[in-house]
Amino acid sequence: MSGAGEAAAAPPLIALENLRKRYGGRGGAPAVEVLRGVSLTIEAGEFVAIVGASGSGKSTLMHLLGCLDRPSDGRYLFAGQDVATLDADALAWLRREAFGFVFQGYHLIATESAQENVEVPAIYAGLPEAERHARSRALLERLGLGDRLDHRPHQLSGGQQQRVSIARALMNGGRVILADEPTGALDSRSGAEVMALLEELADAGHTVIVITHDREVAAAARRVIEIRDGQVVADSGRAGPPAAPAMDGPPRAGAGRGREHQGPSLATELADACRAAWRVMWINRFRTSLTLLGIVIGVASVIVMLAVGLGTRQQVVAQASAFGANLLYMSSVGASSRIPGRSVTLADLQAVAELPQLAEVLPNVTGNKVVRFGEKDLQTYVRGTGAAMPEVQNWPVRLGGFFSAEDDRDLAAVAVLGHKLARDLLPDHPNPVGRRILIENVPFQVIGVMAEKGAAAGDQSYDDLLLMPFATAGVKVFGQREPTYTAMTVREGASVDAAEKAVDAVMFERHGIRDYRIGNAAAAIAAKAKTEDTMTLLLGLIAAVSLLVGGIGVMNVMLMTVRERTREIGIRMATGARRKDILRQFLTEAVLVSVVGGSAGVVIGLAVGGVLIAAGVPVIFSLRAIAGAFLCATATGLVFGFMPARQAAGLDPVVALSSE
Ligand code: ADP
Ligand code: MG
Repeated sequence: MSGAGEAAAAPPLIALENLRKRYGGRGGAPAVEVLRGVSLTIEAGEFVAIVGASGSGKSTLMHLLGCLDRPSDGRYLFAGQDVATLDADALAWLRREAFGFVFQGYHLIATESAQENVEVPAIYAGLPEAERHARSRALLERLGLGDRLDHRPHQLSGGQQQRVSIARALMNGGRVILADEPTGALDSRSGAEVMALLEELADAGHTVIVITHDREVAAAARRVIEIRDGQVVADSGRAGPPAAPAMDGPPRAGAGRGREHQGPSLATELADACRAAWRVMWINRFRTSLTLLGIVIGVASVIVMLAVGLGTRQQVVAQASAFGANLLYMSSVGASSRIPGRSVTLADLQAVAELPQLAEVLPNVTGNKVVRFGEKDLQTYVRGTGAAMPEVQNWPVRLGGFFSAEDDRDLAAVAVLGHKLARDLLPDHPNPVGRRILIENVPFQVIGVMAEKGAAAGDQSYDDLLLMPFATAGVKVFGQREPTYTAMTVREGASVDAAEKAVDAVMFERHGIRDYRIGNAAAAIAAKAKTEDTMTLLLGLIAAVSLLVGGIGVMNVMLMTVRERTREIGIRMATGARRKDILRQFLTEAVLVSVVGGSAGVVIGLAVGGVLIAAGVPVIFSLRAIAGAFLCATATGLVFGFMPARQAAGLDPVVALSSE
């Protein structure tokens, strides 16, 4: 590639053959041919100015040269390779590795610092972080911006911004610098400085192509090509031999795709994407937090609703075991129950007790009676029952003991008090065992006090009763020996339903009509638990819907973000971002929003649950529900972020760049 080797086999760096570019022509708009057959060659190391009046097609030409746009017709050979044969990723590679763009409007990313802007191309090229920082710092220092590394674009003057963009163009080597009106927005002094800088680069061996409408600016270049109405009208031709090798080492020969797969490591890419995403979120924090609110509420409500549902269910189950889940109840029903002697008789119970499915048959006779101790009278629920009651109903005795089967047979006048009744009737006696009380004026001896039952069973009235042997109650208190109701325990291993059917069969055979009712506590409790489950499901559904609404919020914000940041997307593509880089960036943002929202939701959900626990509501947190809600939120972000992200990635670099 020396000046003497003009006729050598090495193809020119850039060769345009009859290049044409048309706009419009579809949907009614008349077609405009902006470039009308441009042919020229540019060798490596040249310093070329392309001049022409405004509207002559210079920028269009530069977009084609920089592979930001495709020609309508004609051929563009870069280092001998037809650019039309390259796919989107290969073009991105070319933009990243071969070209460095300098725009009239600088095109810096507003949310990033000078140094970060310079580093953008290196991120897409996969340069390790330490090298990246060192190189960007060195470049900025060389361009006199060593003390402006952390400034954002709006904190820099026009000349400084243009120098940042030149540093960015050099970040990956900048073999070919494409500058479109680089001095157009600058005062004459800054403009001269920028031109001097480009000249220096040309001296160092970079190929520099400057586009300008200003002949004075063009005069700095070694070759001037004039373009008018989309055609080359003058070309001063090559002046002198190409200069010394580039300062960043010799330009790499050929534009092959050798480094195509040397992408940045996934971890670095993700870290960078997260960092950028976080910054965008932070800059738009008000809007972001409003979006987050949807997800936060969604996740928090899923967690709280399920925790309350689970807690309530647990309580119901606890009640079930407090009652004894294997209990059957039978009582008299209908007109016959009003006649003296109830429809269900002790003889019935004897027959039922023969059933192999039943373990215990416990007749009960109940009613309200006045109980007296000393001066104190209390209307009390009195229950005559069997000696097996504490075992059958899972209800232990706290003080003293329970009556025995002998007490029942002997009609012993003994009573066991409920926890609360003991407290109310004998407030001055912490241990009432041995005291005498009167029930309907019949003296009884207190032999025990039951443990507290109401808390577990969910019914405080349990602790307000008086228990005595069934036979004693029938004879001495109620004057009738037929049971009010009967409790039966199903033998372990036998089905409650089957036992219920068997009892019914025996009873129906004896009575001929169903003047009795059989029920089981388990069924009632199961029904209640089912209601709770349905309730939980319903609440969970509402919560899920709010999560969905949160996801739609994310999508909305992401769509807005894409629209707002179209130019940034263009800049990233011009500096070599591939479609998947853009896709990843926007997806990362969406997921980050959702993860932050999800985490906040988990924290708030736990806090609300804590408050509910303090307020006495049964709450059980489930790790599965928490993890599920969190994952759902993240997935929502991913799903709803995908469409905007894909839209961003699908943009054409030129279209994106020219958006405002
Ligand atoms: P210059 O940079 O020399 O001022 P441009 O290359 O920007 O000129 O534009 C050349 C012509 O092409 C102008 O007349 C402009 O209106 C037209 N043009 C540029 N871009 C488009 C486009 N996307 N759609 C239609 N016409 C366009
Ligand atoms: Mg222009």
